[in-house]
Amino acid sequence: MSAFDIDRVLRPHMLDLEPYRSARHDFSDGVLLDANENPYGLAPAWAGNSLNRYPDPVQNELCSRLADLNGVERDSVFVSASSDEAIDLLLRLFCSPGRDAVAICEPTYGMYRVAAAVHDVRVLAVPLADGFQLDVAAVADRCAGDIPPKLIFCCSPNNPTGNLLDGGEIVRLCSAVDAVVVVDEAYIEFADAESLARRVRGIPNLVVIRTLSKAWALAGVRIGYAIASPRLIGYLRKIKPPYNVGSLAAAVALETLADPGRMRRVIDEVAAERERVAGLLRGLRSIETVYPSNANFLLIKCAGATELQRRLAATGIIVRDRSMEPGLSGCLRITIGTPRENDLLISALTAMEGMTP
Ligand SMILES: *Cc1c(COP(=O)(O)O)cnc(C)c1O
Repeated sequence: MSAFDIDRVLRPHMLDLEPYRSARHDFSDGVLLDANENPYGLAPAWAGNSLNRYPDPVQNELCSRLADLNGVERDSVFVSASSDEAIDLLLRLFCSPGRDAVAICEPTYGMYRVAAAVHDVRVLAVPLADGFQLDVAAVADRCAGDIPPKLIFCCSPNNPTGNLLDGGEIVRLCSAVDAVVVVDEAYIEFADAESLARRVRGIPNLVVIRTLSKAWALAGVRIGYAIASPRLIGYLRKIKPPYNVGSLAAAVALETLADPGRMRRVIDEVAAERERVAGLLRGLRSIETVYPSNANFLLIKCAGATELQRRLAATGIIVRDRSMEPGLSGCLRITIGTPRENDLLISALTAMEGMTP
């Protein structure tokens, strides 16, 4: 295969698209009469923090911090308002509605399919192989079909199965296809594995997407990011909404990212709880399988999964029914909570076993 050239894979009109130039690109202090903002400020509780002003459109400080944390250059990082936004922008960049396709490796995160449908982009679903592993040959095969996918989504650790995909296989896939391989590492901090982030330097068709929603506990703040070659990142910056990341979100993110030690202590605790809960679940007669997990949730298989999910909900414990997903009949996904929440789950399940003969 010839070397990957992003300009051949992009939607052609992206090549010379002129981005919006916001007022805040040129000046950010002085007598600011350039952006039609309201100079009178906000109610007292929020006054004094410049929320009446548009935020930094380039988020340099946040980009630098995320670049440092991941051992990459700042021009390899794109900050988005959630990883869902990053997925959406990647679709806009590469896939023409009504014409192009993406590949997904199922069972996996449902947003790839929904985001593709929103853009009227066809989805080629390739089943994961045994152990929910990437089937490089099967994906490469689909890339040789009549509608080769522009993007291939790989989720590692995979939601909802919880397992890591083999990093070497992902790299092998990158060199086997003329498409962009998007590796969603939303749960990578919980895994016993390195991120693929540093590999983007040598692999022009690799994009790693990350989020502050899980390990960093900022799901309500909506910050995600993509790591890729500076060329690919340059295109994402060109098409993003000019003020996609708000100043409050950026401030909370910067403050949180300043203490990676805290994040690591929390994820160690979650991982320890995950193993404790897995052990307890394995001791329950009604549960057939507790799949190994490298994330902050467990996938379990049991008889009557949908009924069990309803009965748990009736006791106030909410878990996710995944039993309608391809290859996941009988499966529920359970997030690891606090030790107390996990104990409540185990007690409820134990009590239900007592009620069935
Ligand atoms: C939770 C999750 C995300 C997070 O998305 P945000 O929009 O950043 O909150 C992304 N990918 C997967 C697979 C997830 O499970």
